[in-house]
Amino acid sequence: MKEKLRAFVKEMYGDDVPTKRKFFNFVCIAAPLFSLAATIVNLISGSVRGDNSSFGLWACVICTVVCAGLYPLSKLFKNIDFLIHVVAFGLNFAVLPVLYLTVGGITSSMPTFFVVGIVFSVLMIDNKKVDIIIAFFSYAWYFLIMQLDQKYEIAARFSVLSGKSFYLDAYLDFVVASACIAVLVKILAISFERQQEKTNDLLDQMEELSVKDPLTGAYNRRFLIRYLESSIANAKEKGTNIAIVMFDIDKFKRINDDYGHLVGDEVIKVLANSLMSACRDYDIVSRYGGEEFILVMPGASEEIAIKRAEQIRMSFKDIKISGEIDRPVTISGGVAELTVSMQTPEDFIKSADDNLYVAKETGRNKIVGTTYHKLIPDVVKENLQNN
Ligand code: GH3
Ligand code: MG
Ligand code: MG
Repeated sequence: MKEKLRAFVKEMYGDDVPTKRKFFNFVCIAAPLFSLAATIVNLISGSVRGDNSSFGLWACVICTVVCAGLYPLSKLFKNIDFLIHVVAFGLNFAVLPVLYLTVGGITSSMPTFFVVGIVFSVLMIDNKKVDIIIAFFSYAWYFLIMQLDQKYEIAARFSVLSGKSFYLDAYLDFVVASACIAVLVKILAISFERQQEKTNDLLDQMEELSVKDPLTGAYNRRFLIRYLESSIANAKEKGTNIAIVMFDIDKFKRINDDYGHLVGDEVIKVLANSLMSACRDYDIVSRYGGEEFILVMPGASEEIAIKRAEQIRMSFKDIKISGEIDRPVTISGGVAELTVSMQTPEDFIKSADDNLYVAKETGRNKIVGTTYHKLIPDVVKENLQNN
């Protein structure tokens, strides 16, 4: 039972139900309830007067039956716009006036019903012209009905509640008005909140897509440059260290050639994952090029960065990437620590790139930092520069 009720509420007010349809659904429940209440009041007043077969009672019964059929009827329509227009007109021009005239005792409450009728019509319909037509003609129609009622005392004929029951009217008016306003505000607030949540989720997803590389999930180059700009400014301001490592897979072209690009992609993903799992707070991994990644380590000196890069290099060569690859896959890395002479992310990256170049030229499968240059014999250095 609880499950069924929950499913029904979801069907009427679930996240994917458009707002105008939610208001329509509310009318589908509220209109038969109002009509049923009017029928009961009519029955009581009819039995007090001794004429249960009165026109008023039957009018209310018909309103109840018609309104109760609205929701099942709406399920037959794919596009319910036309039905919404019919319901808005029917509510304002037939159902509510009939209830007003036949439940005469509740005269002070009925104008509230009229106001609620117009408000719901406007909420259900998203066509400004139709809104204005309905509101304008409904007001004119209601004033006419109230004038006629005053002149011929139509409502008074159908009820025993008229006359002294003014306070009952006023209380009922208060209850109906406050309940309708509360429901209205609640529906609007929930709709707005859900819409807001959806928009925020979409924005998050877009933000994620705009800064990440789709193959590996690592940050893209654009994000890296932005991140480096702010990290460099921060490190310079606070006088703290920051180091980066540029990694590149050794002889990767041969992996692509020998095993195909899909296996090549797999190798790139495995490297990205091992870099990302080696990240600490504030570290980021970015895919700088095809199989080149940059690991940014705020707070790290060159010495620390070399140590960590070495750990990554060592563990990567032991990873069994794919059953097809029958030779070890290795990586090389160039480390750079931010120095005063470096002004832009590009200066910083160039320094790491230069060191990566040295690593490649001096045998690959190694990590090279700027201090390493001191260990290279001058002849080899010259050779490197000439290349
Ligand atoms: P080295 O040891 O000097 O780095 O040799 P290498 O063969 O790895 O040379 P390089 O780094 O220049 O090779 C990059 C190759 O990566 C070239 C290109 O075919 C390949 N590549 C670039 N992007 C992708 C990608 O998204 N997927 C795959 N499978 N291959 C890529
Ligand atoms: Mg390479
Ligand atoms: Mg490369």
